[in-house]
Amino acid sequence: VITDQAFVTLATSDGYGQGALVLGSSLRGSQTTRILVILISPMVSQRVRTALACVFDEIIVVDVMDSRDSAHLALLGRPELGVTFTKLHSWCLIKYTKCVFMDADTLVLNNIDNLFEREELSAAPDPGWPDCFNSGVFVFRPSMDTYHRLLDFAVDYGSFDGGDQGLLNSFFSDWATKDIHKHLPFLYNLSSVAVYNYLAAFKRFGSQAKVIHFLGPVKPWHYTFIPDTHLVLTDTGKPKEPHIVDLLQLWWDVYFSSVMPLFT
Ligand code: UDP
Ligand code: MN
Repeated sequence: VITDQAFVTLATSDGYGQGALVLGSSLRGSQTTRILVILISPMVSQRVRTALACVFDEIIVVDVMDSRDSAHLALLGRPELGVTFTKLHSWCLIKYTKCVFMDADTLVLNNIDNLFEREELSAAPDPGWPDCFNSGVFVFRPSMDTYHRLLDFAVDYGSFDGGDQGLLNSFFSDWATKDIHKHLPFLYNLSSVAVYNYLAAFKRFGSQAKVIHFLGPVKPWHYTFIPDTHLVLTDTGKPKEPHIVDLLQLWWDVYFSSVMPLFT
């Protein structure tokens, strides 16, 4: 195990905690040699924390509201950035020299430890606006200096999309043009919307995906999944595109095999 490098994720609720449990289990399944760290908010229940402790090496409770540090002060000026500020806390993990942040709604299909060969800030293009990177998967170097500069930046300029992605793209603003090595292949952050955006490419390259990202308001844990029939039920009752169902199936496979046993 390489003890100075870590995968980092974030969950501020039990719902995202379910996502994080699947992500963490999928990283274990990929035989990663790196440490698994999760940042949680005090809102996450004891039940979910106990399960998280089986999967993650380190659980760090971040309470931006209660802290008396600069993050709290910054939040007073920008209350809408609560979750974002918790994500920025990743830069405080200075016992690690390099980390890969992954959203709790991502799923690892193959070993991605080679991401640690990349430099800050490496990320894949966003499918909606490819001159911006998607902040669901990125390589970074923890640093208190960078952390404070990010907080100051957030207070001064806010986030053009109200979340961490807008903020990080404004802060690391030369990502689009400066260094192609900082552009991760789309396969390292394949968002499920690509199925709709470019189905032919999805059919051609989708099987090479390393990370699936269930971007958007409806997350895998919001569906009802029936294991026997592999049927995914949505609340609208609208049929889902079959490729999306296949991706949801991958998520639920990990949930049933690795996460559910943690709760019984
Ligand atoms: N997140 C969280 N609680 C929230 C919203 C977001 O913990 O209420 C974390 C979680 O890790 C999530 C990430 O922030 O994956 C980014 O949010 P989300 O994935 O919902 O955004 P999207 O990828 O859909 O744009
Ligand atoms: Mn996400």
